[in-house]
Amino acid sequence: MSHAAPYDPIETASPESLRALQLERLRWSVAQAAQSQHYARLFADLGLGPESVRSLDDLRRFPLTTKQDLRDNYPFGPLAVPRDKVVRMHHSSGTTGMATAVFHTMGDVDRWAALVARCLHMVGLRPGDVFQNMMTYGLFTGGLGLHYGAEKLGALVIPMGAGNSHRQIEFMRIFETAAVHIIPSYALALLGTFEEMGVDPKRDLRLRFAVGGAEPYTEGTRQRLQGMWGVPFYNCYGLSEMCGPGVAFECPEQQGIHIWEDSYIAEILDPESGEPVAEGDEGELVLTSLTREAMPLIRYRTRDVTSFVTEPCACGRTHRRLTRIHGRTDDMFILRGVNIFPMQIERVLMSMPEVGHNYLIVLDRDGYSERLTVKVEVTPDLFRGEVDELLRLQERIAHALRDEILVRPGVELVEPGSIPRREGKAVRVVDEREKT
Ligand code: ADP
Ligand code: ZN
Repeated sequence: MSHAAPYDPIETASPESLRALQLERLRWSVAQAAQSQHYARLFADLGLGPESVRSLDDLRRFPLTTKQDLRDNYPFGPLAVPRDKVVRMHHSSGTTGMATAVFHTMGDVDRWAALVARCLHMVGLRPGDVFQNMMTYGLFTGGLGLHYGAEKLGALVIPMGAGNSHRQIEFMRIFETAAVHIIPSYALALLGTFEEMGVDPKRDLRLRFAVGGAEPYTEGTRQRLQGMWGVPFYNCYGLSEMCGPGVAFECPEQQGIHIWEDSYIAEILDPESGEPVAEGDEGELVLTSLTREAMPLIRYRTRDVTSFVTEPCACGRTHRRLTRIHGRTDDMFILRGVNIFPMQIERVLMSMPEVGHNYLIVLDRDGYSERLTVKVEVTPDLFRGEVDELLRLQERIAHALRDEILVRPGVELVEPGSIPRREGKAVRVVDEREKT
């Protein structure tokens, strides 16, 4: 190991022993799932059960579970324990339609916290460190998920929640915060508040690292955040249906996120055919929980697009890595027949230093023709500068975007801070094509 010893020896277990553990736990998880109304019916119809699992390949005999299945059985159909064993409920944020309820037993809450503690330990959090959690608390799992994990590790947790930017920065200064957990679009927005308050995060704070997740962001955005905050930003991935944050987490190598294979089985499938993609190719991440009591899910379609990193990691951990999540299959929009992911646009914008920290993609119609406009905040200097320079930048952005997405967008340069931002996950696309 090139870094400190792992929090849990399982992190460096041999791939063979990990696979053996997965097989044993998969049998348990299928048996547990069969306790729920939803899976009991499904497995009975298909003649499946724990005895159908003789090797890990047998997982492919089970059908995929979709968000729609959870909606159709809302709220208690997927619950696999008596209701008096449930101690916690979360609800996904509903970014893409009606949300789903997710239940936890005390054991689930403990195992989730241990997994998050493992993640935070991996990137250097230690007992006594001050951990400022800037994620929304409540039904959203980003708040309590990291909170319990950091506490379990023995950190001093400040449950700030999102927003209240002046106070966030004051607290970071006064309490010498060592690490923050923050939504990346909010981390960009806070840069404006640092400037306003005359606080230089590199000079005036004792921060060692930041954890960013809950929404997609590009490597360029990460580079920008690291440059301006002056600390490493580690990528944290998770979803409510699989507990929440901590499913996969970046190690200090920053070359992909380790998916914790003692707790989840990851598959990457072609979203159209449902067949596995070739090793290393991109596809939809499908997850099976291995230790969840209250709401085990078998082959859950996350709709998140990623690929496996095929080489072993230099950090010495044996759990496989996923590449940065590029967004969800349903983030993709189609404009004049061309498929476009918002992250393609972010990649172009965040590589340009003149571009500020926020942007918005607007789709509407101009007569019969569909139109794409990208509103881009520029840096304060540029905004106060020469019109010529702004026009040149506008042209450069339009050109670079045309190269990336094959459609020439309209580009509107706007004042820094003028695009409204929400406290939670950023909304990157406004689609007004139906209205116009
Ligand atoms: P909702 O599905 O309603 O947004 P969740 O809060 O459960 O509710 O969000 C989980 C989703 O957030 C993931 O499926 C993924 O699309 C996105 N997400 C979470 N972490 C990351 C990350 N690090 N990178 C990219 N996307 C992420
Ligand atoms: Zn690693």
